[in-house]
Amino acid sequence: MGSPVIQALFGGTFDPIHYGHLRSAEALAQLVGLKQVILLPNHVPPHRPQPEATAQQRLEMVRLAVQGNPLFTVDTRELDRQTPSYTIETLKSFRQEVGKHPLAFIIGQDSLQTIHTWHKWEELLDICHLLVCSRPGYQNSLSTPEVQQWLKKHQVDTPLPLSQKPQGYIYLAATPLLNISATDIRQRHQQGLSCDDLLPPSIQNYIDSQGLYRS
Ligand code: ATP
Repeated sequence: MGSPVIQALFGGTFDPIHYGHLRSAEALAQLVGLKQVILLPNHVPPHRPQPEATAQQRLEMVRLAVQGNPLFTVDTRELDRQTPSYTIETLKSFRQEVGKHPLAFIIGQDSLQTIHTWHKWEELLDICHLLVCSRPGYQNSLSTPEVQQWLKKHQVDTPLPLSQKPQGYIYLAATPLLNISATDIRQRHQQGLSCDDLLPPSIQNYIDSQGLYRS
């Protein structure tokens, strides 16, 4: 019997989705043996800085980005809710669906740096594994001894254990360093600069047709 399939979720604002997301997730899938990555556009709470694109536009860009790519699917449960939900709540709803199968949440290194600010962050590993993609400019050492200790306790050096337990491990994956951010892409659009190497042509066309990120 093969090892159990790991269900992997990748949450983000995706304002817009870009190659930093897509290529990191593809490389991670290769490294870990993921068959599917579920992209999960966030419902951004009103007290946080709001995305420039609407929820519908962000979702449309995610859908366009993954069209014809069997690695990715899109889940709209956060956007479908009337109110924003904490990541931990979303993860719990996936956990109910997958039973005891391995479940993983994908983040970039920058998110690992701030993970101790997330609602109920200590409970994340009771529900899923964390797969961390490399990102230029960020280190694996964390800001407080408490989180550093937490990382040390749960970190695994190979992907193998990830399919052997439903949750509880952190894997820092050596994905390629891609110096791409949505902030930079939005600023480049505002300045009329090309974003050709930063995101798929279908997204660029959509941004142009909707007049996004101009002001
Ligand atoms: P912004 O610049 O608006 O903050 P972003 O480019 O960081 O956006 P998000 O949608 O906020 O994109 O990111 C979703 C997830 O993808 C986060 O966990 C983030 O760490 C990760 N991520 C984004 N860009 C990269 C990248 N270039 N390499 C690795 N991970 C990334």
